[in-house]
Amino acid sequence: MIHDILPHVLNNEFKVCDPKPTDFVIRYDGAKTLLKKVATSGQEGASAVGYAIPRVGELLALEGKTLADFEGHYLFSIDDMAFFLDDSIEAKPADTVATPEGYEFMGSRTFRTMNPVERMGGATAVHIAHWESLNKFCGKCGNVTIRGDHERSIVCPKCGNVVYPRISPVVIVAVRNGDKLLMAHNIDNPNPRLFLISGFVEVGESLEQAVHREVMEEAGLRVKNIRYFGSQPWPFSDSMIAGFTAELDGDDTIRMQKEELSEAMWVKREDIPEYETDVSISCCLIENFRRGFTL
Ligand SMILES: [Zn+2]
Repeated sequence: MIHDILPHVLNNEFKVCDPKPTDFVIRYDGAKTLLKKVATSGQEGASAVGYAIPRVGELLALEGKTLADFEGHYLFSIDDMAFFLDDSIEAKPADTVATPEGYEFMGSRTFRTMNPVERMGGATAVHIAHWESLNKFCGKCGNVTIRGDHERSIVCPKCGNVVYPRISPVVIVAVRNGDKLLMAHNIDNPNPRLFLISGFVEVGESLEQAVHREVMEEAGLRVKNIRYFGSQPWPFSDSMIAGFTAELDGDDTIRMQKEELSEAMWVKREDIPEYETDVSISCCLIENFRRGFTL
Protein backbone atom coordinates (compact mmCIF):
# COMPACT_ATOMS: atom_id res chain seq x y z
CA MET A 1 0.00 0.00 0.00
CA ILE A 2 1.03 3.61 -0.47
CA HIS A 3 2.38 3.99 3.05
CA ASP A 4 4.39 0.75 2.94
CA ILE A 5 7.73 2.32 2.03
CA LEU A 6 10.15 0.10 3.96
CA PRO A 7 13.12 0.23 4.20
CA HIS A 8 12.36 3.95 4.00
CA VAL A 9 10.88 5.65 7.05
CA LEU A 10 8.50 8.62 7.18
CA ASN A 11 9.31 11.17 9.87
CA ASN A 12 6.33 13.52 10.15
CA GLU A 13 7.24 15.14 13.46
CA PHE A 14 6.63 18.91 13.31
CA LYS A 15 9.74 21.08 13.12
CA VAL A 16 10.99 24.29 11.56
CA CYS A 17 14.20 24.00 9.52
CA ASP A 18 16.00 25.14 6.37
CA PRO A 19 16.26 23.14 3.15
CA LYS A 20 19.21 21.44 1.47
CA PRO A 21 19.52 21.79 -2.32
CA THR A 22 18.66 18.09 -2.74
CA ASP A 23 15.42 18.26 -0.74
CA PHE A 24 12.11 17.92 -2.56
CA VAL A 25 9.98 21.01 -3.15
CA ILE A 26 6.23 21.06 -3.74
CA ARG A 27 5.00 24.05 -5.75
CA TYR A 28 1.21 23.71 -5.50
CA ASP A 29 -1.08 26.16 -7.28
CA GLY A 30 -4.26 25.22 -5.42
CA ALA A 31 -5.11 22.32 -7.74
CA LYS A 32 -1.94 20.98 -9.38
CA THR A 33 1.75 20.52 -8.56
CA LEU A 34 4.78 21.52 -10.60
CA LEU A 35 6.58 18.34 -11.69
CA LYS A 36 9.69 17.74 -13.78
CA LYS A 37 9.37 15.72 -16.96
CA VAL A 38 11.82 12.83 -17.04
CA ALA A 39 12.50 10.13 -19.62
CA THR A 40 11.52 6.67 -18.49
CA SER A 41 11.67 3.34 -20.24
CA GLY A 42 8.19 2.39 -21.36
CA GLN A 43 6.95 -0.94 -22.64
CA GLU A 44 9.48 -2.95 -24.66
CA GLY A 45 12.19 -0.38 -23.98
CA ALA A 46 10.40 2.47 -25.78
CA SER A 47 11.09 5.84 -24.21
CA ALA A 48 8.20 7.50 -22.43
CA VAL A 49 7.66 10.66 -20.40
CA GLY A 50 7.48 10.28 -16.66
CA TYR A 51 7.45 12.82 -13.86
CA ALA A 52 9.59 13.50 -10.81
CA ILE A 53 9.30 15.94 -7.92
CA PRO A 54 11.69 18.89 -8.37
CA ARG A 55 14.49 19.54 -5.90
CA VAL A 56 14.96 22.83 -4.05
CA GLY A 57 18.33 23.55 -5.69
CA GLU A 58 17.18 23.00 -9.25
CA LEU A 59 14.11 25.24 -8.99
CA LEU A 60 16.16 28.02 -7.36
CA ALA A 61 18.83 27.74 -10.09
CA LEU A 62 16.17 27.96 -12.79
CA GLU A 63 15.08 31.29 -11.34
CA GLY A 64 18.60 32.61 -10.70
CA LYS A 65 18.16 32.36 -6.92
CA THR A 66 20.18 30.88 -4.05
CA LEU A 67 19.19 28.94 -0.92
CA ALA A 68 19.01 32.23 0.96
CA ASP A 69 16.18 33.31 -1.36
CA PHE A 70 14.07 30.18 -0.74
CA GLU A 71 10.50 30.95 0.30
CA GLY A 72 8.95 27.85 1.75
CA HIS A 73 8.53 25.71 4.84
CA TYR A 74 9.40 22.21 6.00
CA LEU A 75 6.68 19.53 5.93
CA PHE A 76 8.27 16.14 6.80
CA SER A 77 11.08 13.82 5.80
CA ILE A 78 11.46 10.35 4.37
CA ASP A 79 14.85 9.11 5.60
CA ASP A 80 17.12 12.15 5.17
CA MET A 81 15.13 13.56 2.24
CA ALA A 82 12.98 16.47 3.35
CA PHE A 83 9.84 17.75 1.63
CA PHE A 84 9.31 21.51 1.57
CA LEU A 85 6.25 23.46 0.49
CA ASP A 86 7.05 26.39 -1.79
CA ASP A 87 5.46 29.62 -0.52
CA SER A 88 6.67 31.77 -3.40
CA ILE A 89 3.44 31.41 -5.35
CA GLU A 90 1.19 31.89 -2.34
CA ALA A 91 -1.75 34.19 -3.08
CA LYS A 92 -0.99 34.28 -6.81
CA PRO A 93 -3.87 33.20 -9.07
CA ALA A 94 -3.12 29.77 -10.56
CA ASP A 95 -3.28 30.99 -14.15
CA THR A 96 -0.55 33.59 -13.53
CA VAL A 97 2.05 31.09 -12.27
CA ALA A 98 4.81 30.47 -14.81
CA THR A 99 5.68 26.92 -15.90
CA PRO A 100 9.44 26.52 -16.50
CA GLU A 101 10.63 24.68 -19.62
CA GLY A 102 10.69 20.92 -18.99
CA TYR A 103 8.15 21.13 -16.18
CA GLU A 104 4.39 20.78 -16.02
CA PHE A 105 1.64 21.32 -13.44
CA MET A 106 0.01 17.95 -12.88
CA GLY A 107 -2.82 16.51 -10.75
CA SER A 108 -2.10 14.37 -7.69
CA ARG A 109 -2.78 11.09 -9.48
CA THR A 110 0.58 11.59 -11.23
CA PHE A 111 2.34 10.76 -7.95
CA ARG A 112 0.96 7.23 -8.33
CA THR A 113 3.30 6.69 -11.30
CA MET A 114 6.41 7.47 -9.20
CA ASN A 115 8.71 5.40 -6.99
CA PRO A 116 7.43 4.60 -3.45
CA VAL A 117 9.23 7.53 -1.77
CA GLU A 118 8.05 10.21 -4.20
CA ARG A 119 4.58 8.63 -4.44
CA MET A 120 3.99 8.70 -0.69
CA GLY A 121 5.93 11.91 -0.06
CA GLY A 122 4.48 13.86 -2.96
CA ALA A 123 0.86 12.88 -2.34
CA THR A 124 1.17 13.54 1.40
CA ALA A 125 2.81 16.91 0.82
CA VAL A 126 -0.05 17.89 -1.47
CA HIS A 127 -2.53 16.73 1.18
CA ILE A 128 -0.96 19.31 3.53
CA ALA A 129 -0.66 21.95 0.78
CA HIS A 130 -4.35 21.56 -0.07
CA TRP A 131 -5.32 21.94 3.59
CA GLU A 132 -3.20 25.09 3.91
CA SER A 133 -4.72 26.52 0.72
CA LEU A 134 -8.23 26.11 2.16
CA ASN A 135 -7.42 27.87 5.43
CA LYS A 136 -5.77 31.15 4.49
CA PHE A 137 -8.56 32.96 6.33
CA CYS A 138 -10.13 32.11 9.67
CA GLY A 139 -13.44 30.28 9.24
CA LYS A 140 -14.68 31.81 12.51
CA CYS A 141 -13.83 35.53 12.23
CA GLY A 142 -12.45 35.95 8.68
CA ASN A 143 -9.03 37.27 9.74
CA VAL A 144 -5.85 36.23 7.85
CA THR A 145 -4.38 33.10 9.48
CA ILE A 146 -0.78 32.10 10.20
CA ARG A 147 0.92 28.70 10.51
CA GLY A 148 1.34 27.34 14.04
CA ASP A 149 4.92 27.48 15.37
CA HIS A 150 5.01 24.35 17.57
CA GLU A 151 2.66 21.87 15.87
CA ARG A 152 1.14 21.27 12.43
CA SER A 153 -1.72 23.73 12.70
CA ILE A 154 -3.11 26.95 11.29
CA VAL A 155 -3.88 29.64 13.85
CA CYS A 156 -5.98 32.79 13.80
CA PRO A 157 -3.97 35.53 15.60
CA LYS A 158 -7.16 37.54 16.17
CA CYS A 159 -9.61 35.06 17.73
CA GLY A 160 -7.33 32.12 18.56
CA ASN A 161 -9.13 29.61 16.34
CA VAL A 162 -6.86 26.60 15.63
CA VAL A 163 -7.30 24.34 12.58
CA TYR A 164 -5.60 20.96 12.17
CA PRO A 165 -5.05 19.01 8.91
CA ARG A 166 -8.25 17.62 7.46
CA ILE A 167 -8.21 13.82 7.55
CA SER A 168 -11.64 12.46 6.65
CA PRO A 169 -12.37 8.85 7.64
CA VAL A 170 -13.55 6.47 4.91
CA VAL A 171 -14.64 2.82 5.14
CA ILE A 172 -14.14 0.24 2.41
CA VAL A 173 -15.50 -3.29 2.58
CA ALA A 174 -15.03 -6.61 0.81
CA VAL A 175 -18.46 -8.29 1.05
CA ARG A 176 -18.33 -12.05 0.53
CA ASN A 177 -21.19 -14.25 -0.64
CA GLY A 178 -19.77 -17.78 -0.70
CA ASP A 179 -17.18 -17.82 -3.51
CA LYS A 180 -18.36 -14.47 -4.86
CA LEU A 181 -17.24 -10.93 -4.02
CA LEU A 182 -19.35 -7.77 -4.22
CA MET A 183 -17.60 -5.49 -6.70
CA ALA A 184 -18.61 -2.09 -8.00
CA HIS A 185 -17.55 0.84 -10.11
CA ASN A 186 -17.95 4.38 -8.84
CA ILE A 187 -19.22 6.88 -11.41
CA ASP A 188 -16.45 9.36 -10.50
CA ASN A 189 -13.54 6.90 -10.79
CA PRO A 190 -11.62 7.36 -14.08
CA ASN A 191 -10.24 3.84 -13.66
CA PRO A 192 -12.78 1.52 -15.36
CA ARG A 193 -11.94 -1.52 -13.18
CA LEU A 194 -14.29 -2.85 -10.55
CA PHE A 195 -13.46 -2.10 -6.93
CA LEU A 196 -15.30 -2.34 -3.61
CA ILE A 197 -18.05 -0.49 -1.80
CA SER A 198 -16.65 2.50 0.08
CA GLY A 199 -17.70 5.85 1.44
CA PHE A 200 -17.05 8.64 3.93
CA VAL A 201 -18.02 8.09 7.54
CA GLU A 202 -20.91 10.32 8.56
CA VAL A 203 -21.17 12.35 11.76
CA GLY A 204 -22.43 10.29 14.69
CA GLU A 205 -21.69 6.79 13.41
CA SER A 206 -18.98 4.21 14.11
CA LEU A 207 -16.82 2.70 11.38
CA GLU A 208 -18.89 -0.50 11.52
CA GLN A 209 -22.16 1.44 11.25
CA ALA A 210 -20.72 3.25 8.24
CA VAL A 211 -20.02 -0.14 6.63
CA HIS A 212 -23.63 -1.27 7.18
CA ARG A 213 -25.01 2.02 5.82
CA GLU A 214 -22.75 2.23 2.75
CA VAL A 215 -23.47 -1.35 1.64
CA MET A 216 -27.20 -0.80 2.12
CA GLU A 217 -27.20 2.57 0.34
CA GLU A 218 -25.03 1.58 -2.62
CA ALA A 219 -26.05 -2.06 -3.14
CA GLY A 220 -29.23 -2.59 -1.10
CA LEU A 221 -27.64 -5.47 0.84
CA ARG A 222 -27.34 -6.42 4.50
CA VAL A 223 -23.99 -7.62 5.90
CA LYS A 224 -22.83 -9.44 9.03
CA ASN A 225 -19.57 -10.55 10.67
CA ILE A 226 -17.78 -7.28 9.91
CA ARG A 227 -14.06 -7.63 10.64
CA TYR A 228 -11.31 -5.05 10.60
CA PHE A 229 -8.70 -5.70 7.90
CA GLY A 230 -6.35 -2.72 8.08
CA SER A 231 -6.02 0.95 7.32
CA GLN A 232 -4.14 3.33 5.10
CA PRO A 233 -3.73 7.05 4.56
CA TRP A 234 -5.31 8.17 1.28
CA PRO A 235 -3.93 11.63 0.57
CA PHE A 236 -5.71 11.87 -2.81
CA SER A 237 -9.00 12.60 -1.01
CA ASP A 238 -7.58 13.91 2.31
CA SER A 239 -8.69 10.63 3.86
CA MET A 240 -7.86 7.81 6.23
CA ILE A 241 -9.33 4.56 4.89
CA ALA A 242 -10.35 1.75 7.22
CA GLY A 243 -10.74 -1.58 5.39
CA PHE A 244 -13.15 -4.31 6.47
CA THR A 245 -14.37 -7.70 5.36
CA ALA A 246 -17.99 -8.80 5.81
CA GLU A 247 -20.40 -11.55 4.82
CA LEU A 248 -23.71 -11.16 3.03
CA ASP A 249 -26.64 -11.42 5.44
CA GLY A 250 -29.77 -12.73 3.69
CA ASP A 251 -31.08 -11.74 0.26
CA ASP A 252 -28.31 -11.39 -2.39
CA THR A 253 -30.35 -9.20 -4.80
CA ILE A 254 -28.32 -6.08 -5.58
CA ARG A 255 -30.22 -2.78 -5.76
CA MET A 256 -27.58 -0.43 -7.11
CA GLN A 257 -27.49 3.27 -6.23
CA LYS A 258 -27.33 4.80 -9.71
CA GLU A 259 -26.29 8.24 -8.41
CA GLU A 260 -23.04 6.77 -7.04
CA LEU A 261 -22.27 3.65 -9.07
CA SER A 262 -22.21 2.66 -12.73
CA GLU A 263 -21.90 -1.07 -11.94
CA ALA A 264 -22.37 -3.37 -8.95
CA MET A 265 -22.27 -7.15 -9.17
CA TRP A 266 -21.27 -10.43 -7.55
CA VAL A 267 -18.04 -11.66 -9.15
CA LYS A 268 -16.87 -15.26 -8.81
CA ARG A 269 -13.43 -15.74 -7.34
CA GLU A 270 -12.04 -17.34 -10.52
CA ASP A 271 -13.35 -14.45 -12.66
CA ILE A 272 -11.51 -11.75 -10.69
CA PRO A 273 -8.35 -10.55 -12.47
CA GLU A 274 -5.15 -9.90 -10.56
CA TYR A 275 -4.84 -6.49 -8.87
CA GLU A 276 -1.58 -4.65 -8.03
CA THR A 277 -1.35 -4.28 -4.26
CA ASP A 278 1.38 -1.63 -4.03
CA VAL A 279 -0.91 1.41 -3.64
CA SER A 280 -4.44 0.84 -2.35
CA ILE A 281 -6.08 -1.14 0.41
CA SER A 282 -8.96 -1.75 -2.00
CA CYS A 283 -6.68 -3.85 -4.22
CA CYS A 284 -5.25 -5.63 -1.16
CA LEU A 285 -8.75 -6.64 -0.04
CA ILE A 286 -9.64 -7.87 -3.54
CA GLU A 287 -6.38 -9.82 -3.86
CA ASN A 288 -6.91 -11.30 -0.41
CA PHE A 289 -10.23 -12.75 -1.58
CA ARG A 290 -9.00 -13.73 -5.06
CA ARG A 291 -6.10 -15.72 -3.59
CA GLY A 292 -8.52 -17.59 -1.33
CA PHE A 293 -7.47 -16.28 2.04
CA THR A 294 -10.12 -16.57 4.70
CA LEU A 295 -12.14 -13.39 5.16
ZN1 LIG B 1 -10.37 34.12 13.82
